[in-house]
Amino acid sequence: MSLVIVGSVAFDTIETPFGRRSRIVGGSGTYCSLAAGYFTRPRVVAVVGRDFPKSAVAFLKARGVDLGGLKVRAGKTFHWEGRYEKDPNIRRTVRTDLNVFKDFRPEVPKAYAGAEIVYLSNIDPDGHEFALRQFRKPKLVAMDTIRFWIETKREAILRELGRVDILFANDEEARLVSGELNLIAAGRALVKRGPSLVVLKKGEHGALVFGRGFVFGVLAHPCDHVIDPTGAGDAFAGGFLGYLDQAGRFGRRDIRRAAVYGSVLASFAIEDFGIDRFRTLDRAAIDGRFRDFRKLISF
Ligand code: AMP
Repeated sequence: MSLVIVGSVAFDTIETPFGRRSRIVGGSGTYCSLAAGYFTRPRVVAVVGRDFPKSAVAFLKARGVDLGGLKVRAGKTFHWEGRYEKDPNIRRTVRTDLNVFKDFRPEVPKAYAGAEIVYLSNIDPDGHEFALRQFRKPKLVAMDTIRFWIETKREAILRELGRVDILFANDEEARLVSGELNLIAAGRALVKRGPSLVVLKKGEHGALVFGRGFVFGVLAHPCDHVIDPTGAGDAFAGGFLGYLDQAGRFGRRDIRRAAVYGSVLASFAIEDFGIDRFRTLDRAAIDGRFRDFRKLISF
């Protein structure tokens, strides 16, 4: 199979109770492709400025990420700054500098157009629409978004929901898009808007997968030190979709296993700042934690 990720490749400035890092490499496409790279060879469509470090490009390539769809444009790379409270589930966006992202129209290379799984990770929803039109007949289309786009481009997001199979959303995003305060009601309302599956990520409380007549819950791996929660959602999606791409099937059992792999990848991403945990993480550690999950939930 083949997985294409349309997303942000970015600089992040992050403050958590464990410290502050300025302009480190991040972005939804970065986290997602690194996580998916343990299962498949993800292909990325994104844009960066000339200031983006060659060493980061080399690292992604070394991790098996295909960067044939990464454009380098004159100007500065997208920059996001976020601050976390003592409760890692509470995050405040301090600033969003769109930079080269401003009028980015993601061009899908011809070699990617036949992709079977497409992930429209967090970027401008108009960019999602533009990208989606360029794929021939994907079997599975998933999307994600963030408060910034829900507040500025709500109509585009609602339109997009009618065109995707899976929505990944955290609790805040699910409430904002659906207008429902209760998460279960929010999940059900979102499924009615189009996607056959809604994956509601609840930070350290795990995730709920809603389908039509189908609900599956997955815990978050118990983690003593959440150093930096950034990218947990994208790593979840990367593990989830990377696993499905490897499995080549989308049955209910595959979806359950994908959700556990998603949770495992998210649990690793938060153990260090930015993408640092991926520098040493290997597949054996991922499979070890997958097995631990079994013990954790069997009774
Ligand atoms: P997550 O923690 O999984 O929600 O994703 C955080 C990542 O999303 C960070 O690495 C940011 O670079 C990226 N990000 C933040 N805001 C935006 C935005 N408005 N558009 C695209 N990517 C963003």
